Amino acid sequence: MEKTPTLVVSSPNIKYTDEYIYSDYEYEETLVTRNGEEITARPIRKTLGIRTDRRVGKVGVMLVGWGGNNGSTFTAAVLANRHQLSWNTKNGKMDSNWWGSITQASTVRLGIDEKGCDVHVPMCQLLPMVHPDDLVIDGWDISPMNLAESMVRAKVIDYDLQQKLKKEMASMKPRPAIYDPDFIAANQADRATNLIRGTKYEQYLQVRADIKDFRDKNKLDKIIVLWTANTERFCEVRAGVHDTSENIERALRDNNSEISPSTIFALAAIDENCIYINGSPQNTLVGGVVERAEMRGVFVAGDDFKSGQTKLKSVLVDFLVSAGLKPVSIVSYNHLGNNDGKNLSAPKQFRSKEITKSNVVDDMVESNQVLYKPGEKPDHVVVIKYVPYVGDSKRAMDEYTSEILLHGTNTIVVHNTCEDSLLAVPLILDLVLLADLFSRFAFRETDNSYVRLHAVLSPLAYLLKAPLVASGAPVVNALFKQRANIDNLLRAALALPPNNNLGLEHKVP
Ligand code: NAD
Repeated sequence: MEKTPTLVVSSPNIKYTDEYIYSDYEYEETLVTRNGEEITARPIRKTLGIRTDRRVGKVGVMLVGWGGNNGSTFTAAVLANRHQLSWNTKNGKMDSNWWGSITQASTVRLGIDEKGCDVHVPMCQLLPMVHPDDLVIDGWDISPMNLAESMVRAKVIDYDLQQKLKKEMASMKPRPAIYDPDFIAANQADRATNLIRGTKYEQYLQVRADIKDFRDKNKLDKIIVLWTANTERFCEVRAGVHDTSENIERALRDNNSEISPSTIFALAAIDENCIYINGSPQNTLVGGVVERAEMRGVFVAGDDFKSGQTKLKSVLVDFLVSAGLKPVSIVSYNHLGNNDGKNLSAPKQFRSKEITKSNVVDDMVESNQVLYKPGEKPDHVVVIKYVPYVGDSKRAMDEYTSEILLHGTNTIVVHNTCEDSLLAVPLILDLVLLADLFSRFAFRETDNSYVRLHAVLSPLAYLLKAPLVASGAPVVNALFKQRANIDNLLRAALALPPNNNLGLEHKVP
C-alpha cells in the first residue's frame, strides 16, 4: 500500500511544530436541567488545548494467542500487505488489502469543496499514525506451532497465499504462555504444551522478561499487548483480591487461584509500560488492574472484538429505536466450527460471551423513554453452538421483533455467513493503531498543564463488544455514535469542528 501523505490544516487555531500538533478547540455541549415538569437546555462551551505528539516511533505488537486463527491471520495480513503480495484463486488473481479496517479502508468527511460537495479522506491521513507495514509482531501461545503451521491449521488464508507466506511465517514461533486449565475449556488441553511453568508471580516475571527481550532486540519505542487468546471463564471478583492495585499484587504473589492468566498478562504489560487491549469477553480488567494502569499512566481497553453479529445489532437496534419502533424480542443464534467455537462450547466460557453479547442494546433502549418504561428491556437471548464442519465460516441468525403502530408487530430476520477471523483481524489493526494515536493525545483547559486521556481508552468502543469505560462514565454501544466519536476526536485534534451533517449550503437560498 502506498504511504499516504498527512493532511495539513490551515487555521489560526492550529500550530504545527516538529514534535507536536497544537489545536485550540471550542468544545460545545448542551447542559440540561429539570425543574419539575420544566426542562431547560443551555448551550455551554469550553476552550480546550489538544496536543498530538507527531513522533510515531517504532511500534511492536505482542499478541497473546499468536498461534490462533486471529493471530496467524493478522500476521499473514500484515506480511501480505507489506510485501504487496498477489495470489491466484478460482476467481482469478487477488491483491492484498486492509478491507474492514476503519483506519486503512474507510474515509472521514473532511469538509466541502468550492462547489459545496463533500470531500472525504482516508482516516489514516488525518493524523500521524503507525503504518501497518512498519509494525513488528511477536507473541505468546500455549500451542507450540510456528506461525506457518498455525496458518495452515486455521484454514482461513487462501492456499496460494499460504504458499507465498509460509517461509517467512515458519521462522516465527510463539513464546511459551500461561496455561491454567481452570480458566479455558478442558477441550483445549491437548494443544497446551508450550508453557511458562512456576507460580503466578514467576509467570508474571517471565512475561515481563519476554516484553523486555522483544523491546531490546527490536529497539522499539512502544509495545502494545493484545489478548486474542481463548475466552476464559469470568474470574470471581473478590474484595481484598481484585479491587485495588495493592490487593491484586498481593494476590498475585500469594498465587491466588482467582488470578487468571489474562490478568497476569495485563499486569505484566502495564508494569512494562505497554498498552493492554482485551479482545475477548472475560473480565481481565478488574478494578485493581485499572487502578494499576491509572497509577502507571498506561492505557487499557476492552472487552471483546465487535466483529459481526453484535456490530449489526448495534446498528439495527439503534435504527429501530430511533425510528420510534420498539424492539421487544431479539434472538441471536450462532454456529461456528473453529477453535474459538470449540472453547465456547464449554458452559463457563460460553457464559463470558453471553454476558458481553447481552448488554449491547441497553443504551439505545434507555435513550427512548417514549417507548420503554424505566428498567424495561427487550427479551434478548443469545445461543452459540459448535459445528466443526463450518470452520471459521461463522453463521449468525438473528430475529428482531418490534412493536409498531397501534401494537402491530414487525419481524426482521438476518442471516450472516462471515469468515470470522477476516472480520476480526482488521479490528486488531485498528485497535493497535488508534490506541497508539490516542496515547499521543493530551488535553488542557486554559493554562493548566496537559493531561492525557483517561487510562481506560473508551474511544475504542466502536471496535469492542462490551466497551470498558472509566468508572461512572456512560457506556455507548450505538455503532454510529461510536464512529462519530472517533471521527470528531480526530477532527478536534486538528482544530476542526465536529461533522454536523447540516449541509446548509444547499438548503438555505
Ligand atoms: P483461536 O482458538 O483460533 O485462537 C486462540 C489461541 O489462543 C489459540 O492458538 C490457543 O492455543 C491460544 N491460547 C489459549 N489460552 C492461551 C493463553 N493463556 N496464553 C496464550 N495463548 C493461549 O481463536 P480465535 O478465533 O483466534 O479467537 C481468539 C479470541 O478472540 C477468542 O477469545 C474469541 O472469542 C475472540 N473473538 C474473536 C472474534 C472473531 O474472530 N470474529 C470476535 C470477537 C472475539
